[in-house]
Amino acid sequence: METPLDPTPISHRISEGLARLAVAMRSDDWTRAEATGLKPTQLAILDYLAGRDQPVRVKEIAVHLGVSQPTATDSIAALERKGYAEKAAAAGDKRAAAVAVTAAGRAILAEASAAEGSATAAARALPAEEQEDLLMSIVKMIRHLQEAEAIPVQRMCATCRYFRPYQHDDAAKPHHCDFVNAAFGQRDFRVDCREHETADPATRAATWDAFQKG
Ligand code: SF4
Repeated sequence: METPLDPTPISHRISEGLARLAVAMRSDDWTRAEATGLKPTQLAILDYLAGRDQPVRVKEIAVHLGVSQPTATDSIAALERKGYAEKAAAAGDKRAAAVAVTAAGRAILAEASAAEGSATAAARALPAEEQEDLLMSIVKMIRHLQEAEAIPVQRMCATCRYFRPYQHDDAAKPHHCDFVNAAFGQRDFRVDCREHETADPATRAATWDAFQKG
């Protein structure tokens, strides 16, 4: 029997814990998707498309979801057959094929998103301060993964050209978003912001440094 005096490294146990949460999240995804007659990948694609102002290329969708291009292509074809997505010209290159969500796609996405998943409920059950700390830890882990090129750059404040960390004396709202020209706090930190524009690598590094130093 494993004794508590010789545990695996904490990083390993955090990873084990995240894997357990991922199981609950996958189950939530299936429940949401099945309620609307979709597969989780199809729902994830609709969610991704709905957060973009422009049609998105298949390759970008596949990279974002971490699936192969054929898998993304099959899922998009199924969404097109159901009338939830449609082909469109890619921004900046009229000849390149891209995909956009339709009004029916947005409607089914809203329906699917109406019910709170068990993982979201578990996060909401944490005290407010712990929610904020957890969000910051997740942001740091995501940033580490994207700097290691394990995942694409995410639309987080930490990588955004509009993000100005610690511009204000207000402890509740120390940061500034130049896009909306407003102060905001840690708990308002975005992980997937529609208005996000990726800063250049040097600016990203400097901004992150300032954010870390606080
Ligand atoms: S535009 Fe969005 S991602 Fe960028 S700083 Fe503002 S809230 Fe954050």
